[in-house]
Amino acid sequence: MPVVALVVQPSRRNPALAVVPVARNKARYQTKGVSSDGRSAFLHIRNSISMDIQTCLNKLGYVGVLNFATVDKDGAPQVRNISAIHYEGTDIYFLTARGKSFCRQLIDDGRVQILGYTRYKETIRVSGKAVQVPEAEQVKWRDLIYEEQPYLENVYPGETKNIDTMFVIKDYTIEYFCLSTRPITREYFTVGNAVVKPKGYQITDACIGCGTCQKVCPQNAIDAGEPFIIRQNNCLQCGNCFEHCPVEAIIRR
Ligand code: SF4
Ligand code: SF4
Repeated sequence: MPVVALVVQPSRRNPALAVVPVARNKARYQTKGVSSDGRSAFLHIRNSISMDIQTCLNKLGYVGVLNFATVDKDGAPQVRNISAIHYEGTDIYFLTARGKSFCRQLIDDGRVQILGYTRYKETIRVSGKAVQVPEAEQVKWRDLIYEEQPYLENVYPGETKNIDTMFVIKDYTIEYFCLSTRPITREYFTVGNAVVKPKGYQITDACIGCGTCQKVCPQNAIDAGEPFIIRQNNCLQCGNCFEHCPVEAIIRR
């Protein structure tokens, strides 16, 4: 079975790809692993990557179909695939039909989490609050999405599209998590009035400097110091350091 290298290529047709670093400079990349089917092939491990809000949104646009999670009235998680999305600056517009439980959950609760995964081992997670678009703007944004995604006319032809209702997310956080860098890359961004809630682990002043956590960290994401410190941007949040610290100096954030 032939093995094909995965190389990130910018594309004029798809600007979302143009913002991804090109993997042609082999000096910056290590080549690791071969999939059993030979199709996933090599994974290029990069030393580092610098991310920003707009690039994350471009990448979500390129992925296209995203997972949208909400909670229902019983607090149970509900997730579905959504592709009827329009990106306007940092605003994320999307539509659903008024009769769907998805619509009800958005109106009742509004919290929504969006997840996209790229072929370059990047997870992009948007967490925010969706609100209904004002009545006067509903048709404008709906028609724009129908124009961008003509397949929708097949789903809701003619006047039946009036059952659709538009939502927008303006305040949200983005978590970018990339497994194709060494060490891994994790970055957080905020848009509008959203606030990032800290996750993962933190080393406290109870640290005695034994170095055990450094030895067991799979990503070498801990620097020596008084106390030792976790580089949060390189942390898997796996908890291995937490489990091995002899004096319980590492706490969950
Ligand atoms: S294992 Fe605990 S005590 Fe030892 S260096 Fe790490 S945080 Fe400090
Ligand atoms: S949680 Fe895991 S990746 Fe993060 S510092 Fe601890 S051992 Fe390393």
